[in-house]
Amino acid sequence: MALNTKEVRIKVSKILCETNIDNPPVPIETIAKQLGIQVQFELLPNKLSGLLYREDKKVKPIIGVNSLHPEVRQRFTIAHEIGHFILHNEPVHVDREYDVKFRDPNSSLANNDSEIEANKFAAEILMPINFLKKDIDNRDINIPDDDFIEFLAQSYEVSMQAMIYRLQNLDYISKVEK
Ligand SMILES: [Zn+2]
Repeated sequence: MALNTKEVRIKVSKILCETNIDNPPVPIETIAKQLGIQVQFELLPNKLSGLLYREDKKVKPIIGVNSLHPEVRQRFTIAHEIGHFILHNEPVHVDREYDVKFRDPNSSLANNDSEIEANKFAAEILMPINFLKKDIDNRDINIPDDDFIEFLAQSYEVSMQAMIYRLQNLDYISKVEK
């Protein structure tokens, strides 16, 4: 049974609070470093988005990120691997072909609890609900509005697709709309 959203959200808000982050874009690489994780950008095969390595207790845990992927995807990968770091105990975890399709628990790309949890964690930390509330609720803007969603995606440095899923999951936009 995957951790529920509330449990993941509590872990994320603790990290954001401890790192004094209260505005987008969330500096995800800095957060990784503050958690004692080393982030390495590597030329990996396209189907590999990233990995988490913490087998050797004598060296810092390492997140490897595919440097060939777009920057927004690299950010999501780092957030996803931090999710594994915080939530799971695997010594080595390799993410192949994972995508941001966390809203669909039956998706073959998110086909087990730990992947769903890591994706939830990534969405929560890159697009924190409180930040989005501030940005959306105080504006007299009609959602869904593609320009505004794009503006949000740019401010949070996430892909348009990730932002759309996030807004759908928070019921800001309807799931059939997009
Ligand atoms: Zn994963």
